[in-house]
Order: sequence, then C-alpha cells, then structure tokens
Amino acid sequence: MSNIVVGSGIAGMTLALLLAQQKQDVTLLEAAPSPAPLLNSFKRSALSFDVGFHYAGGLAPSGVLHRWLNALGVWKYIGNDALHPVSEEFHFATNDKYYLPPHKNFLISAVEEQFHETESFEKLLTMMNDSLNHSPFMNPLQEKFTMDIPENITSVSDVLDSLNLPFALKQIMLARCLLLGLRPSETSFEHYSVLSMPYCESSSSLIGGGKTIRDAYLRALEDAGVTVQCNSTLKSLLVEEEELQGVVLENGKELSCERCFFTGHPQQLRSMVPPKVFRPAFFNRIESMEETPHAFMIFAETKSASLQDKVVYLLTQEGFCADRVLDADDPSIYVTGAAPVDGRYPVLAIASIKQDICKKSDQNYSAWKKKYSEKLVNYLETRMPELAPIRLLDAATPSTLRHWVHGSKGSLYGIAHSNENLPILPITRLKGFFMAGQNILLPGLLGALISAAVSAGFAFGHDEILQRFRQGYE
Ligand SMILES: Cc1cc2nc3c(=O)[nH]c(=O)nc-3n(C[C@H](O)[C@H](O)[C@H](O)COP(=O)(O)OP(=O)(O)OC[C@H]3O[C@@H](n4cnc5c(N)ncnc54)[C@H](O)[C@@H]3O)c2cc1C
Repeated sequence: MSNIVVGSGIAGMTLALLLAQQKQDVTLLEAAPSPAPLLNSFKRSALSFDVGFHYAGGLAPSGVLHRWLNALGVWKYIGNDALHPVSEEFHFATNDKYYLPPHKNFLISAVEEQFHETESFEKLLTMMNDSLNHSPFMNPLQEKFTMDIPENITSVSDVLDSLNLPFALKQIMLARCLLLGLRPSETSFEHYSVLSMPYCESSSSLIGGGKTIRDAYLRALEDAGVTVQCNSTLKSLLVEEEELQGVVLENGKELSCERCFFTGHPQQLRSMVPPKVFRPAFFNRIESMEETPHAFMIFAETKSASLQDKVVYLLTQEGFCADRVLDADDPSIYVTGAAPVDGRYPVLAIASIKQDICKKSDQNYSAWKKKYSEKLVNYLETRMPELAPIRLLDAATPSTLRHWVHGSKGSLYGIAHSNENLPILPITRLKGFFMAGQNILLPGLLGALISAAVSAGFAFGHDEILQRFRQGYE
C-alpha cells in the first residue's frame, strides 16, 4: 500500500519509520527546502543555535524517549556518548535560586537539601507516575489501549493546591506547565504528568543539539528506504466517492496514495479538501481552538560559562507566572546555552509575547524587533549579571517561527491542548486520511513522537505499532 506522510518534523519522520516497519511503501513530503526545519540548527557569528530542541526528559537510557528512539532504529545513530545531562535552575526575582538535578537518583536528596521536606513531593511524583503509567505509549508494561475521556479533568493547580508543597517547590513544579505552553489551571494533570514526569527521570540535551536527532532520523529513514522530498508542499487532497485517492502538491504534481498522514497545522485542511468531505463542525472546532503563546527569542553571546550544563527559568517575585509576557516589567523567561567556540558562549532566551503583536509586513516591524531584542538583553543582564555583557546576534519573532514551520500560526507549540480543548482524534471521516503531530495530541519531542505512534496505531492496530517499544529494542 502506498502512504504519503506530510511534514518531516519529528512526528512525520516517526510516522515514516513506523510505516516502513509495517513493510509499507512511504513517501515523506516536506514544504521546507531541507528536512525537519524545527530540529535543524543555524549559525550566527560561528556559534550554533537550536530552535525546537534544547533539552528533553527521558532521553537517558531506560527513559521513555530513549526507548522509543531505540525502537525506531534512531538511537543507534545518536549514541549514549552524545547525551549531555542538564540541570534545571529556577531563579526567583527575590534572588532565591533553586535547582533540580539531571537524574532521578539525585532528585529526592536535592529536594531535601533545598526545601527540607520530601513527603509531599514524593506524593506528587507517585501521582505523576501513576498518571503516566496508564498509557501503553509511555509504559511498555501497560498492555491495554483506551481512549477513555475522563468525566472530570483534574487540573495541575487542583493537584498542587491539594499538596502541602513548600512555596518555591510548588512554583517550580507549576513552571513545568510551560512544556505544554499552558497555565496550570488549564492544564490537565494527566497531560502534565505524561510530559513532565520524564524530566524528573532524567533531563538531557545532546551534543550537536536538535541536528543530532534530525541527522540520526535521516540515517534511520535511509536504512528504511524512505527519502524526504523537500520543497514539496501539500496543496490539496484528491478524493473520490469519499475515499482518498492521492494528493496534489503546490507545483501541480499529483501523487496517488491509499493513505495520507498529515502533520502540519490542521487549520490548513479547510482549503485542502473538497467541500462536504468533512462536516462544518469539524473545521469550526479546529478553528476555534486556542493556540499556545507566541514567543520572542534572542540569540546572543557571552564570555561567561555560567549557562553550561543547565537551563534557567527566570520566575517573578510571586514565582511562576505564565502571563508575564515580554511587555511586563518582569517577564518570565527561559534561558539556555549551547557549545562554546573560542571562549564565546551562546545564549538563547525565550519570552512569551502577545499574540501576533507585530507582523513582518508591518511598517514598524524592524524597529519593534530591535526594541524588544534590546529589552530582553537588558533584562537578562539585570536578572543574570553573571552573563553581562551579552552581545545580541539575532532575534526571532512569531513571524520567523511561522516561516520556519510552514503554515503554522507562529505560536510556540501550535494548538493549546488545555483541559477545555481535548486532543483531536488522528483518524478522520475521510477513509485513509490521518493526522498527527504537536497540534493533534501534545507538544514537545515526546508529545509529537507519541502522537505519530497513536496515529499509526489507528491505521495498523495499536499492538502492531507498540510491539518494538514493548520489547525495548537495543
Ligand atoms: C522555540 C522552541 C523551543 C522548543 N524547545 C523544545 C525542547 O527543548 N524540547 C522539546 O522536547 N520540545 C521543544 N519544542 C517543541 C518541539 O520542537 C515541537 O513540539 C515538535 O518538534 C513538533 O514536531 P511536529 O512534527 O509535530 O511539528 P513540526 O516540527 O512543526 O513539523 C511539521 C512539518 O510539516 C511541514 N508542513 C506543514 N505544512 C505542510 C504542507 N502543507 N506541506 C508539506 N509540509 C508541510 C512543516 O514545514 C514542518 O516541517 C520547542 C519548540 C519551539 C518552537
């Protein structure tokens, strides 16, 4: 059977590998000029910067992401030597600083040392673990696949409020909602657990950054006989008698296929499918779903090594505040480093920004970008004086992100999967047409990868797809 996968992000590449494992014929299409644009790095002033991957949970051996990359035949091209453990630091505006270590073996003792209590924290970890272990896509011992929609969704704030965690520790754990781009009150505890528990197990970056993952996937795809066809934008679907026949590319080329898996933003679908294939309610639902926040990023350099081996969350006086965007006096910022060159260290900082505040086509775009870049540099130098002086090299706005990930709305993680917006089903009314990626299930490398596995499961049977993950292929 011929299959077309649209989009070569981690979801699309995972799908292509899973389909190849099912002995399927696969073509992987990508709109951008080169594969996996979000995972690729770029250089400024000889320093290498990453966009869509800085660190992940569960990448170390026995972690869930590690296990999946093994099962896909990708990990052998990354190798354990590329693992770079990173600790997470949380700086409050009061100057109090705390950290979480990169491995679970040191987690409880680090919490004990800094907060002098572990009972409520251990209770939280147990609850998170239980939540995560429900899913067969996260836990190889769980054999039952269900798509149960719970009657009452418990939010992260509800759970954390019910535990007697020390104030700062609670704020730190709330900050993990950033992995989903959500406020704690709108984040389901189950989604939170799935994405954040792996970070409690291990948190690591990779030598070579996102490009290491991208290149390893490309080698595994080559082994599987799949090539990525770049500069190939899906324009519409060919449908006859309510069955998928193939796809049409922007250059007019038609490709026939029996199945198509789409990993771009689902808002593109309205213009892609003939009328009446999907009900208006389907489009209305997708179009009414909120997006995750928009981000403003700076890429800079410092002479200081103090960002090595860590990521830093700059929190406000009150702790974690998702709504403290770049316009505020004390925005919440995520800061990370990367490999140095000749004593020069990269600095990447990400702040939330009000939705589409200024577009590339606006007359004052350049002035606006300059103003916010300088604001972010000055703020960083105030909150982290050890990094000063910081030299700005470049910046990225929501318009930049829209350009990087073709057709997206320029938000950080696409559609916001809040407890109001339940995940979208990967299977559709159109026989042979499936969806996957961060917009369908959950964001992050793990969220997008799992969404690909769930989507492939709908096409081929979940047990078939989970077989290798359960065996934990080395
Ligand atoms: C600034 C930033 C930092 C991040 N940091 C981390 C991190 O440290 N750790 C982590 O785990 N996650 C991180 N993430 C999130 C993570 O990168 C994403 O959730 C994940 O990569 C999404 O993968 P995807 O395959 O769903 O989507 P994408 O990577 O967006 O892939 C979709 C692909 O489809 C292509 N496409 C779209 N429409 C079409 C079309 N019509 N025709 C052909 N191709 C099309 C796009 O060009 C794109 O390549 C970060 C994201 C951002 C933006």
